[in-house]
Amino acid sequence: MKKNIKSFDLEDLKEELKSIGEKPFRAEQIFKWLFVEKVKEFEEMTNISKELRQKLEENYDICNFQIERKLVSKDGTIKYLFNIDGINNVETVLMKYKYGYSVCVSCQIGCKMGCKFCASTGIPFVRSLTPGEIVEQILAIEQDTGNRVSNVVFMGIGEPMDNFENIMKTIAILNNPKGFAIGARHMSVSTSGVVPRIYEFADRNAQSTLAISLHSPNNETRSSMMPVNKAYPIEELMKACKYYMEKTNRRISFEYALSKGYNDSIEDAEKLSQLFHKTLGHLNLVHVNLIPINKIENGAYDQSSIESIMKFRDYLNSKGITATIRRELGSDIEAACGQLRRKNLKTEEAN
Ligand code: SAH
Repeated sequence: MKKNIKSFDLEDLKEELKSIGEKPFRAEQIFKWLFVEKVKEFEEMTNISKELRQKLEENYDICNFQIERKLVSKDGTIKYLFNIDGINNVETVLMKYKYGYSVCVSCQIGCKMGCKFCASTGIPFVRSLTPGEIVEQILAIEQDTGNRVSNVVFMGIGEPMDNFENIMKTIAILNNPKGFAIGARHMSVSTSGVVPRIYEFADRNAQSTLAISLHSPNNETRSSMMPVNKAYPIEELMKACKYYMEKTNRRISFEYALSKGYNDSIEDAEKLSQLFHKTLGHLNLVHVNLIPINKIENGAYDQSSIESIMKFRDYLNSKGITATIRRELGSDIEAACGQLRRKNLKTEEAN
């Protein structure tokens, strides 16, 4: 199989070109053609000799996704279903905010984590995506809409920490000032709580935001929602979060999807506040993102009322914990949190 040319960061591309007997300065030209000019064919790289273009064509895949389906929400959110390699599909979402455009990328085909409330759980895991395949989700959307993407969240299908090296590489490619130039702080990586990778993320001094899908302060409840909690219970997760905060002095965003009668009572808010106070300490580095849970097909979790969510938020705020309610975008096209499931006829049939 040909290597994906979009999977190389600039430094790797220089090495790669050296290895095929080419001058490293060509790497910068190619990098710019790919990520600044956003060309779809090697042929369009006009300052590169015909011979080299041919060599690239023969040895590398330029990886252009086909848009299989595109759904536009009333609020402007767009959900894309891409055919990525003739067989597999991924879903990606474009959202418009006051500050610009944000893309929610998928990092795996399917997901192994098995969270009970998430639509991605119903589909079989196939494989992790390569850096080029994650970068291409953003490129394809920029090409389709003509908009420049300024923020990226790794919150689509898959567990980023289960595809760790490729995610770190993707961040480096997107961050490179000679390409997309997306600020590392404008990227967020969300994890269900794969503890060893949280330590590693801290040690690599990644400047991107870490988001933790917490959803409950209680091990029993959390394990019933998220099997990963059985391997890495809340105490261990909090220890890793504390390490991250002390090592990086960066804020962690705790995701908390509220479900009626399940994790949305004032007692839950109280326990959550105590958990942060007792195990983390650094409350200035805690941000809680409250999300009304999205009910999935045949799902057991009903959405909390906005009143309960506001009470939950007010309680946390009164205890010195910053908590905000996340505005839901794209729910009418099943593009909101937890609704992605690479829908198409082939996978529907296979299920
Ligand atoms: N695997 C990673 C990233 C993908 S999920 C993680 O678990 O963090 C992105 C976010 O959507 C997570 O916070 C996840 O818990 C949340 N989510 C999943 N299903 C949801 C649902 N039905 N309603 C609200 N949020 C959901």
